[in-house]
Amino acid sequence: MIVELQNLTKIFPSRNKNSDDEVVAVNDFTFTIPDGKLVGLLGPSGCGKSTTLYMICGLQKPTSGKIFFGEDDVTQLPAENRGVGLVFQNYALYPHMTVKQNILFPLQNLRGEDRLSKEEMLNRAYEVAKIVQIDELMERKPSELSGGQQQRVAIARALVKMPKVLLLDEPLSNLDARLRLQTREEIRRIQRATNITTVFVTHDQEEAMSISDMIVVMKLGIVQQIGKPQDVYNSPANLFVAKFLGTPPINVFDGRIKDGVVYIGNEAVGDARDVADQNVYVGIRPEGFILNDDGPFTCNLNAVEVMGRDVSVVATNEASINPVVRAIIDADNKIDHDRKTVNFFIKPNKMFLFNKETEERIYIVEDR
Ligand code: ADP
Ligand code: MG
Repeated sequence: MIVELQNLTKIFPSRNKNSDDEVVAVNDFTFTIPDGKLVGLLGPSGCGKSTTLYMICGLQKPTSGKIFFGEDDVTQLPAENRGVGLVFQNYALYPHMTVKQNILFPLQNLRGEDRLSKEEMLNRAYEVAKIVQIDELMERKPSELSGGQQQRVAIARALVKMPKVLLLDEPLSNLDARLRLQTREEIRRIQRATNITTVFVTHDQEEAMSISDMIVVMKLGIVQQIGKPQDVYNSPANLFVAKFLGTPPINVFDGRIKDGVVYIGNEAVGDARDVADQNVYVGIRPEGFILNDDGPFTCNLNAVEVMGRDVSVVATNEASINPVVRAIIDADNKIDHDRKTVNFFIKPNKMFLFNKETEERIYIVEDR
């Protein structure tokens, strides 16, 4: 099912009675979610992710704009008639029912021509239980399951009505770190197995990057960038996106362009042919540094942290916006921990320039 969002906007009245400040929770969101793909809706808390999801499922009416499922305009259609499955952060299973009863529950409420026989219901319940791998646990109560298993039951319950669209709102937030990792792989596997068009909401960039076919990065209700996770990481459209994606985060410096050359402080760190002279922000990914005594970029060395495969060089530089500069270099590099300064070359494809006022990306010829 293709889901099309057209100029979707949601304005809430102020929560404070003494103020008329409205909240534009979602601002002119236009995007076509491709059929059978998993789209990660990503951004900091309060950026409008849940509101977008609730409009897609019909729990909230847009202030303006339209939503299409395939050819059908569903903007005014009630949630129960949209054929969507919804999974929340709190799995909200019925505690007194077994896993099987929890999964059967949505089917027992079907009326009219959708009504199923007992046998059909059971077949369906076991079918989805197999997909999410809880078919061995059908007679247990939710309290006898781990958090990850409970979340899988919640997903099974959302899948059992064979939804056209699956919507997941921060489904992993209540799980501990290891389960979170495991369950996100599960969700990916389930999505592939069922091929249901899925929107996955999270504030965790790594989570979204790791399982999404496409990500949508939002800030204050406004879409910042849409693309394949790796493409967005490799070519962020603005400083916000550059900073939001990646761990450790991108290093940001005060810099300037002079005669087509990028300077940080007085050091020429790269080319910017055809870019007008101006002050800029220079973003450099941690993996964008090449340790070399002949390198043009000098930093004061703070510490060298060895983390298995990689070595993290922690340094400082007067022009750095972040408190420390972090460079990830190959563990084969020999580095004397006692030295005062280190020098780097900068990989051109790991360095991005941003307008000082708008924080929009300044593309250089090589980027196009
Ligand atoms: P997210 O899911 O990305 O954390 P939300 O979509 O929940 O963000 O909220 C987006 C913005 O809309 C926030 O500023 C939030 O306070 C506001 N908001 C959400 N729901 C309501 C509501 N029912 N009434 C008023 N403001 C709301
Ligand atoms: Mg939310």
